[in-house]
Amino acid sequence: MLRDNKLELLAMPDIMKIKSYQPGKPIEEVKRELGLKTVVKLASNENPLGPSNKAIEAIKKYAGKVNIYPDGGGYYLKKALADKLGLGEEEIILGNGSDEIVSLVTRVFLQKGEEAIMGDPSFLMYKIDTQLSQARILPIPLNNFRLNLPAMAKAITPKTKLIFISNPNNPTGTIVEKKEVRNFLKDLSSQIIVIFDEAYFEYVEDENYPQTINLLNEKNNIVILRTFSKIYGLAGLRIGYGIARPQIIEMLNRARPPFNVNSLAQAAALASLKDKYQIERSKKLIKEEKEYLYSNLNKMKLSYIPTQANFILIKLGIKASHVEKRLLQDGIIIRGMKAYNLTQYIRLTIGTREQNERFIRALDKIFLSI
Ligand SMILES: *Cc1c(COP(=O)(O)O)cnc(C)c1O
Repeated sequence: MLRDNKLELLAMPDIMKIKSYQPGKPIEEVKRELGLKTVVKLASNENPLGPSNKAIEAIKKYAGKVNIYPDGGGYYLKKALADKLGLGEEEIILGNGSDEIVSLVTRVFLQKGEEAIMGDPSFLMYKIDTQLSQARILPIPLNNFRLNLPAMAKAITPKTKLIFISNPNNPTGTIVEKKEVRNFLKDLSSQIIVIFDEAYFEYVEDENYPQTINLLNEKNNIVILRTFSKIYGLAGLRIGYGIARPQIIEMLNRARPPFNVNSLAQAAALASLKDKYQIERSKKLIKEEKEYLYSNLNKMKLSYIPTQANFILIKLGIKASHVEKRLLQDGIIIRGMKAYNLTQYIRLTIGTREQNERFIRALDKIFLSI
């Protein structure tokens, strides 16, 4: 028998270098531990209005049929997405969250010793999946909290295979603009795959935001990621999708587990696409609440990064972990940015007015007491 400390040697060499994603505690557990009646979670950029009623109905309708395997081809949902986006079904792949598509892209394209370029900070999953491919992470510092596309282009070496562009970027909420993307792609080698992760694109108000789907006509090395987890309010079901030229989709499908998207997720996503009202309501909420939060943060003389998404990166000016703990005692869960090396910052998901008020009140109280 192997000694326990030798078990590591059985795994792929980089496994112990990977920092596993730290999930938050369940809301119910926080309530119990702290003896709180209500807890507000503003940590994971979920939609506080919940899923569409149409999605809830669809889930109920299909609940009794979960003895049957899901449609592994996602036929109806892909068709509906293709119609909506003006694409062919062969240009779409469904994933168990868009997270899964990140991992499919890295598995299919990124080989041992190659490199993936990404913003620093940007979405943490890019790092984890790159390491799982035994590839190198090339983290490129942001410029004024925005992805620095010229610096990312400069960082390219012959070993570079993937470039991740989170747009809007998580955790900063900033975008890269049409012109910047055009310049970036102009001279880019066709040997490199560019991933535009657009998890929050529905919330973007800036008209300089690029319509990346149009780029598919000119470039064959682009993958666009979208999700039902954010504005559609289906994070718990795990469903997202990728868009690319058919040849790329076909390769990703070879690596995809056959039943990766469950039947309730497919049914709920399909129903959600028919509910324009839920999307409009969610956009309106974020637009209004963004202003509410800005004006209160201004009053408190706190700086923040103006956002194009449903979360705000806020600079506290003091170590955030302390504030994070105090907010938790008040029943408010936010995301500290230690994992992103932004020790003075927190990322706040924009909630309902009631939730945002509670956050502002609690934050005010903490600052008065220190
Ligand atoms: C939330 C988020 C996702 C979505 O992940 P799912 O797996 O679809 O839930 C993807 N990318 C970024 C940048 C995100 O913030």
